[in-house]
Amino acid sequence: MLKYLIDIIYPHLCAACAERKPLEESCMCMSCYHEMAPSSYHETTENKVKDRFFGRLKLEYAISYFNFSKKTALQHLIHKLKYENSPEIGRELGRDYGRLLREAQVLSDIDYIIPVPLHPRKKRIRGYNQAEMFGQGLAESLGTLCSSTYLVRTVHTKTQTRKSREDRFANVQYAFQVNQKETLKGKHLLLVDDVITTGATMEACGLHLQEIEDVRLSVAAIALAG
Ligand SMILES: [Zn+2]
Repeated sequence: MLKYLIDIIYPHLCAACAERKPLEESCMCMSCYHEMAPSSYHETTENKVKDRFFGRLKLEYAISYFNFSKKTALQHLIHKLKYENSPEIGRELGRDYGRLLREAQVLSDIDYIIPVPLHPRKKRIRGYNQAEMFGQGLAESLGTLCSSTYLVRTVHTKTQTRKSREDRFANVQYAFQVNQKETLKGKHLLLVDDVITTGATMEACGLHLQEIEDVRLSVAAIALAG
């Protein structure tokens, strides 16, 4: 009852279109959710996300919540997450996706969720790391831990847009460092980011993580672009 009263005073708004949305649902209204069309990548271990890393990373699961396309509610949502001081969007998307994965019994054995790190300077300017927000939401729903201490960014790289995959990879190859390798030994790690484009950043992070003994690696993102 109290929840419904609170909803009258503070109505729940869709994160994408700002229309009122019902309680106990995702962070979006049904119409935006359907427009964005969640992927079914978690239902199979062979899919477009896995293909993106073919020959580059050995992965257990490679999944994304959505497929990215321009001029959609999803693009608007991701723009808000990255540039309009809306960390909550990342957390809510993570929680929603995590619930879906939990119901499908996918990634139930993840030990740690590791977000693709932002350089500290960039994080300070933005106020948060959007990949970490998504990871925290996922961790809540999957009942696991998300930590940004294991993988850090040591080099600030220039913008990745308009670079080929090879250039992007060369740009980020040495930008990361793994801490506390002993703790991560033999664990199943889930590396998360907001959007996968060429996959170069995740590849660089993944290669560092795969240097750890007996580590198993999966990747997840909010959206797969291209
Ligand atoms: Zn909406």
